[in-house]
Amino acid sequence: APAAPLHPSDAPASEALFARARRVVPGGVNSPVRAFRSVGGTPRFVTSARGAYLTDADGREYVDLIGSWGPMILGHTHPDVLRAVTEAAGRGFSYGTPSENEIALAEEIVARIEPVEQVRLVSSGTEATMSALRLARGITGRSRVVKFAGCYHGHVDALLAAAGSGVATFGLPDSAGVPQSAAAETIVLPYNDIEALEAAFAADGEHIAAVITEAAPGNMGVVPPLPGFTEALRRITRAHGALLISDEVMTGFRCSRAGWYGLEGPYDSGAPDLFTFGKVMGGGFPAAAFGGSAAHMAYLAPDGPVYQAGTLSGNPVATAAGLATLRGCTDDVYSHLTTTAHTIADAAAAELTKAGVPHTIQWAGSMFSIFLTEGPVTNYDQAKTTSSPAYAAFFHSMLDQGVHLPPSAYEAWFVSAAHDDAALDRVVEALPEAARAASE
Ligand code: PLP
Repeated sequence: APAAPLHPSDAPASEALFARARRVVPGGVNSPVRAFRSVGGTPRFVTSARGAYLTDADGREYVDLIGSWGPMILGHTHPDVLRAVTEAAGRGFSYGTPSENEIALAEEIVARIEPVEQVRLVSSGTEATMSALRLARGITGRSRVVKFAGCYHGHVDALLAAAGSGVATFGLPDSAGVPQSAAAETIVLPYNDIEALEAAFAADGEHIAAVITEAAPGNMGVVPPLPGFTEALRRITRAHGALLISDEVMTGFRCSRAGWYGLEGPYDSGAPDLFTFGKVMGGGFPAAAFGGSAAHMAYLAPDGPVYQAGTLSGNPVATAAGLATLRGCTDDVYSHLTTTAHTIADAAAAELTKAGVPHTIQWAGSMFSIFLTEGPVTNYDQAKTTSSPAYAAFFHSMLDQGVHLPPSAYEAWFVSAAHDDAALDRVVEALPEAARAASE
């Protein structure tokens, strides 16, 4: 049964846990966005998650629109995944020698994305992008890398440079502890700007190992590539002998069976050289991957000179969870995600309009986000015009009413196969009051 409405300050068990956490964990959390800094208030400490719902330490239940930031595409604790994980765990936790499920997971990925002939499994999206970058540098013998402002590729030193707005600029580190030398090899460009890319390659093309891009960015809110942008990336990188890395950690197996590539590709100008995956392919466990053609992947150790490794890579429990999750992603699941996401987005748009709150809803498959700003939003500078105070009010009103949105205005909202009519009703019923709160 739906929980009683919750006031933000009325979460005594979470507040006590947060205070305890802050004594032994920096900021009380193990990943910064969980701390509610941009919306204020106390993060809810979760005790269990099932289907479309999270239950917190105060015993309150929330419709979950975070989905662990992407992995929980089938909903929490899906019976098939739970069975696979339990069976796998009963056969051992980690072997340190190869096992068949690693092949099966690789086959599952390779079967879906045509340009990917081989993958190497890792344990996080960060490792995937870090390794793809090293591989691109090893293949080309070049050092520089282009990334786009507002794209997040994990906390890789060289990719934490996102500073540049406007014209092409050499990256300044966004984080203390990233040496200028690591960021100096990173060129940050505005997203969706073909001219800026052409100018960067004209100036520096022979030193650029790769362009890395989110296949369809979801980390500045959802900002899909404008028509022709991905084609241009491919054309320009190829003309200068640089590789194109498509980061599908968030979009992979979510936007479609074959991720964003399945929606927008194949491209006339050719496929990206390397892909990175994570989130959905681990089903909530630490499994991620990077891949490409067999010729490119042959540069990796043990066959080639680019070193890359991992104690837990291809972990048997994680690969079992990933396989069960990917196998559960049927066509019906994808159409359910689309319908569900549109129901929520349409209702939100209607209520925000009624309340007079400027907004724009943007899509990448069933991934969407609501910018509280006039759109369209095509790059990070525009995304930053979204109103954070209005989003915080909207967020807290939804939370009070039992709906857990991402605690940041710059994130995608994630639905799952488990978001049924009851969960949707709860979201839709909460929206009018949240829209009013955002208008104040
Ligand atoms: N790449 C993209 C596009 C992501 O969205 C993320 C995480 O949000 C990452 C890479 C990093 O993945 P992880 O958090 O598993 O290290």
